[in-house]
Parts: sequence; structure tokens; C-alpha cells
Amino acid sequence: MGKKVFVLAELREGTLRNVSFEAIAAGKQIAEGGEIIALLIGNSVQAHTQELIAYGSNRVITIESDQLKHYTSDGYSQCLLTAIEKEQPDALIMGHTAIGKDLSPKIANRLNVGLISDITAIEKTDNQWSFIRPIYSGKAFERKKLVEDFIFLTLRPNNIEPIEKDDSRSGTVTALDIEINDIALTIKEVIRKASDGVDLAEAKVVVAGGRGVKSAEGFKPLQELADVLGGAVGASRGACDADYCDYSLQIGQTGKVVTPDLYIACGISGAIQHLAGMSNSKTIVAINKDPEANIFQVADYGIVGDLFEVVPLLTEEFKKI
Ligand code: FAD
Repeated sequence: MGKKVFVLAELREGTLRNVSFEAIAAGKQIAEGGEIIALLIGNSVQAHTQELIAYGSNRVITIESDQLKHYTSDGYSQCLLTAIEKEQPDALIMGHTAIGKDLSPKIANRLNVGLISDITAIEKTDNQWSFIRPIYSGKAFERKKLVEDFIFLTLRPNNIEPIEKDDSRSGTVTALDIEINDIALTIKEVIRKASDGVDLAEAKVVVAGGRGVKSAEGFKPLQELADVLGGAVGASRGACDADYCDYSLQIGQTGKVVTPDLYIACGISGAIQHLAGMSNSKTIVAINKDPEANIFQVADYGIVGDLFEVVPLLTEEFKKI
């Protein structure tokens, strides 16, 4: 018999995050013909239910309250735990995002179940599900199995292809009324430091700058290239420490982990802590003046040259496509 799989759908600035659709696709594998139920939490979410169905959800449960306008672990955990108690799913999947990272240990603790976090692939061997996740800063992968029947996962964005969107898919939408109590945290305002536009964690193309970019102004050609490719700008910690850009752009061991289709590293030496955040990108292009730079060890394509000459040339060429 198929499984009942819960997927936590995530909204960012009024748009469903792509990882929600990827989690539905992951859920479909595990459900084996069972049911995918997307859980949509917020203060006004009805406009997004149909999109979740178009991406493969059989059902959407909405939980709305003014107290859920902004994410809090207290508010969201009450919603999730109530919905889990009511529906008794066999599995729960959420994105390995800031929300997923914050919420998942709390839910695992309250349910007293195991959690496999940051998975990048799902496999079935000997009639049992196993989950692949990177370890040692992306230098190796481990295959994990859960001993409990309940499957609880967080999914690294950009690793599992969403099911093709089909607006003719049908499903049911139900609202769950929950009285939210005891939210210890009051969020008065959210101030985003990252640039508007494409979300770095989910971007298919990332153009990242390092200390070689030399100034905040030096990031402009990188932004132009990212705009032409529909991508996002990221940075090394070297660039952030030098105040060329905000820390919200930092990629690496102590920054964001990204897995885009294309990662273009500009003026980044390739320190091990930086590689931890990007070495699993599908295609890596490195632009560096130093032919001995470590970044070339992980690059699929290397350009030895001055980024201030190479990046504008790439932008012009991509504009022609
Ligand atoms: P550099 O190492 O100074 O490299 C600059 C590069 O630019 C050089 O290779 C140079 O040849 C090239 N260059 C210069 N001018 C040009 C030009 N005009 N055109 C082309 N190339 C040019 N780092 C991270 O990135 N992310 C992390 O999360 C992170 N976490 C860390 C955690 C810890 C505990 C520690 C100790 C360090 C961490 N670091 C992290 C820092 C890391 O060790 C490096 O210091 C940092 O990544 C270096 O940044 P960079 O490559 O931009 O600078």
C-alpha cells in the first residue's frame, strides 16, 4: 500500500519556493502511489494551493492565522504537530532551508523520531529506502537508512527535479483551524539584506565573487552577468570580510550551501571552506589570474585571466544567445 507523505511548502516573499516542488517529487518516490499532502502555513496562502497541486500534490492543507505571517518555530511547529496528529502521515519532507534547518530538529524531538537532513538523492535497495547526503563539507557522500518506519527528511535545494507542472491536475484543498498559543517571539519587521531577485540558495546559476573583485563596485560586472543568465550573485568570505558585499551572500562552510547547474567563481582562490559550499555544483567555471589557484582543482572549465576583462566578455556573448 502506498504511503501518505507530508510536504511542508514554503513561501518566500509571496512565491512558493522551488524546493517545495522538489520535495513533492521526492515525496512521490517514497509514496509509491500513495498520497502527497502539501502543508501550506501563513496568513494568506489560498492563492498558492493550485500551484502545489499542479506540481503533483494530491491534497493541500492550509493553516492560516495573522500570527503565522512570519515564520516562528513555535507557530509552525504547533501547526505541523497538529496536522500530523490529525492525518498520521508515514513521512514528512521539508526543504533544507533556513526554515527547514530550524524547524526539523524540534519536530523530530517532539515526535521522538529520527531525521535525515540535507539529503540530495533517494534510493531503494533491498526493498528499503536509503537517503544520500554529503558529508565532510561535500567531499564524500553517505547513504543513510532510518530504523523507524516514519520517514523524516530535509532536502537540499536544486538536487531533485520537480515533476513537470500540469495545471490540469486536480486535488483537494482543506483548511485546518488551529489555535496558536504561546509564540515566544514577536517578529515586528523583516529586513532582507540580500539583493532582490533570484534566491541564492535555489538559483540555477550563481556568479560568485571573491577578494579578487577588489571592491563593492567590482561586483557590478558580476551582477550584470548574473542578470543575463537569470542567476544570483554569491561571494566568498574573503569578499564579505573585506566589506565588498553583505554576509548574506557568503557561500561556504560558514555560509550558504548551493548546488546550481552553473557556478562561475570570479577571483576566488578556492579555499577548502569555500569549496564546502559549492563543490557539488553541476558545472563549475573558474576565472582567476593565478593558474595555480586551488579553485581550478574543482572546476570543469578554467579561464586564466583578469576577471574584469573576462566577465564583461562573457556577458556580451551570453546576451547574444
Ligand atoms: P583569496 O584567497 O585572497 O583569493 C583571491 C583570488 O583572486 C586569488 O586566487 C587571486 O589570484 C584572484 N584574483 C585577484 N585579482 C584577480 C583578477 N583581477 N582576476 C581574476 N582573479 C583575481 N571562506 C568562504 O568563502 N566561505 C566560508 O564559508 C568560509 N568559512 C570559513 C570558516 C573558517 C572557520 C575559516 C577559518 C575560514 C573560512 N573561510 C570561508 C575563509 C577561507 O579560508 C578563505 O580565506 C576565503 O575563502 C578566501 O576568499 P577569496 O578566495 O575570495 O580570497
